[in-house]
Amino acid sequence: MHKHLFITGANRGIGHCFVKEYLSSGWQVTACCRDPSKATQLLEFQQTNTQLVIAKLDLEQLEQTNLNSLKIPKQKIDLVIHNAGYYGPKGVNFAEINLHEWRKVLEVNTIAPLALTHQLFQAAHLSNPCTIAFVSSKVGSMADNRSGGGYYYRSSKAALNSIVKSLAIDLVSHNIKTVALHPGWVKTDMGGPNALIDPETSVIGMQQVISSLTEQQSGSFIDYQGKTIPW
Ligand code: NDP
Repeated sequence: MHKHLFITGANRGIGHCFVKEYLSSGWQVTACCRDPSKATQLLEFQQTNTQLVIAKLDLEQLEQTNLNSLKIPKQKIDLVIHNAGYYGPKGVNFAEINLHEWRKVLEVNTIAPLALTHQLFQAAHLSNPCTIAFVSSKVGSMADNRSGGGYYYRSSKAALNSIVKSLAIDLVSHNIKTVALHPGWVKTDMGGPNALIDPETSVIGMQQVISSLTEQQSGSFIDYQGKTIPW
């Protein structure tokens, strides 16, 4: 039986590349995005891939979303990738904090991944065993913060890392592993054109980390090259 990936933010950037790689490995993929009608690359994949289900999901609207509306295939999910992310306004310094914007970043990067994990778990969508990967960022590492600023995004990913650790402990008895991933600095809309690696390099590296993740490593923070990142 093919394995089943459930992924958010699947219409572009790193998420889209994950979809491409897992489909080519023969996986069933449930690809979530805010507006399927505009997800042209996913719609193209669907023409040649019966294994791809495109699901409409806005992570800022999670409370108003019924999981049943996503039409997730009945096959249990072997891998969840919480990939969707939002940086928020760039270049914000200490003097310019906007609470509304900060809440939006926290909603997408921190609150939604935990809430969605909870919903999938409660609705018995997760397989035994299952891996839940959270695309975090080294920018959320305290040890790595030498330049200050980035209040919204840094805090959202640092809190996400804390969630990943707690879930690893709480879900071990259900045979569920978790990992926080740093994808590298990747050429996407978020990473920009000066980034160091392309999405394929990042995704192939993270796939390797995910597939070789041991129970002992569950709850850790690992980059696309397999290196552990200090909290
Ligand atoms: P992009 O900006 O290219 O893509 C972001 C994705 O997240 C899009 O699919 C976007 O959907 C989705 N998204 C944003 N807000 C919401 C929302 N409210 N509901 C549902 N989906 C939403 O970013 P990347 O591909 O570069 O980033 C992927 C992940 O990697 C993120 O978590 C990011 O923080 C992380 N990361 C990226 C790095 C990089 O260098 N690129 C470095 C470190 C971490 P839509 O098209 O509808 O906006």
